[in-house]
Amino acid sequence: MRFFNTMTRRLEEFREIEKGKIGLYTCGPTVYDFPHIGNYRSYVFEDLVKRFFTFSGYRVRHVMNITDIDDKTIRKANELGLPLAEVTQKFIDAFHSDLGILNILPADVYPRATAHIPEMLDLVSVLLEKGFAYEKDGSVYFSIERFGDYGRLANIDRDKLQLGAAIDSDEYEKESIQDFVLWKGKKPGEPSWPAPFGAGRPGWHIECSAMSMKYLGAHFDIHMGGVDNIFPHHENEIAQSECANGQTFVNYWLHCQHLVVDNKKMSKSLGNFYTLADLRQRGVDPMALRYLLISTHYRKLLNFTFANLEMAGQALNRIKNFVFSLKNVENAGEAAPEIAVLIASNRNDFTENMADDFNISGALGILFDFIHEINQKMSELSKKDAAAVLTYLEGLDTVLGVLRDNDSGPLAAAVEEKIAQREKARKNKDFARADAIRSELMDLGIMLLDTPTGVKWKKE
Ligand SMILES: [Zn+2]
Repeated sequence: MRFFNTMTRRLEEFREIEKGKIGLYTCGPTVYDFPHIGNYRSYVFEDLVKRFFTFSGYRVRHVMNITDIDDKTIRKANELGLPLAEVTQKFIDAFHSDLGILNILPADVYPRATAHIPEMLDLVSVLLEKGFAYEKDGSVYFSIERFGDYGRLANIDRDKLQLGAAIDSDEYEKESIQDFVLWKGKKPGEPSWPAPFGAGRPGWHIECSAMSMKYLGAHFDIHMGGVDNIFPHHENEIAQSECANGQTFVNYWLHCQHLVVDNKKMSKSLGNFYTLADLRQRGVDPMALRYLLISTHYRKLLNFTFANLEMAGQALNRIKNFVFSLKNVENAGEAAPEIAVLIASNRNDFTENMADDFNISGALGILFDFIHEINQKMSELSKKDAAAVLTYLEGLDTVLGVLRDNDSGPLAAAVEEKIAQREKARKNKDFARADAIRSELMDLGIMLLDTPTGVKWKKE
């Protein structure tokens, strides 16, 4: 397996630290608002990677932090005039609910920053003791001058560093690279914790260093995030962790590109800003969205448009219709050896594509070739063969995660209700009414199939 390591800017063969196991850290949400679909592109990609590792036999330990204290969360709580914990809890709950809707597998741990202040204080103390940090006006800063590797991840020219200057905000541009803040001295209107170097609160970057170290150790396999995390966040995580621990922090850095909408940067002022809830209100199937988010290679810009979403939904329906046909195969007979051979070679090709820097287009192409080939043999397929193909698809879907039955979705509930009404009408011999319901559903693209085991339906 090989993939692109942001640190070395080349494709690298993956070697885990401990055989068969992977320590994975992904930067989680800053819970001051609902995440937008650009955030979800990263989370869905990270999920795809994790699922593929698991499919390939690795045991993945996944840690995703929740940033529930930083500049943004405090600003939001003050704007709303509510306690910080109340505001962040609301967005934490919404985040977990969204993860479920998008079929993103849960992390093993979701550490919250506010629950790890002692670990952060320890880390800041070590950096002070070792001379990588200094106190100034009640705050503590990291001295970038002291870390010779500073700027390696983001490929920064060391001449650009503004040595001796210090910056208090968590986020800043490459044009103002200065000593960054580890601990912010207490300010009015901000929560604070007691500390040996004066009461205050953590900077954003120290949070991820402290929490990754606690749950994955000082040195682990993979760290992921969006490209906007590379600088300054991940650069600063490396500086803090490596200077405190005296060893390499992370072996592989993977970053997911941005999402744009109609080729423009998503922004509230342009009216092209979407949360998951916004799209669901428009009746978007979350699995179609998931399909769209995974189907562009992670190092390419993803252009979100409703036309692309429609196409993603159609591709997904092709897979679902294939599953539907397989489930309705009734032919008795033995399993054909050629089907087993087809499955084995397809699995091999799919895996090879995914193992090559997560070449999703290649992998999906392989899947659709398979669907095409089996569809041509569908009429002569035995029930045993159909079952083998279905098992294979279920295996692939442990990677893609797009075939979840939407039985509990609002559409399914409405269709089931209509089917029940039609059954009632038929029982009462009101066939005109029954036919009217069938054509009403057909207008919605819902096909009904009367089978010996009851009425089944599929969406065209
Ligand atoms: Zn982080």
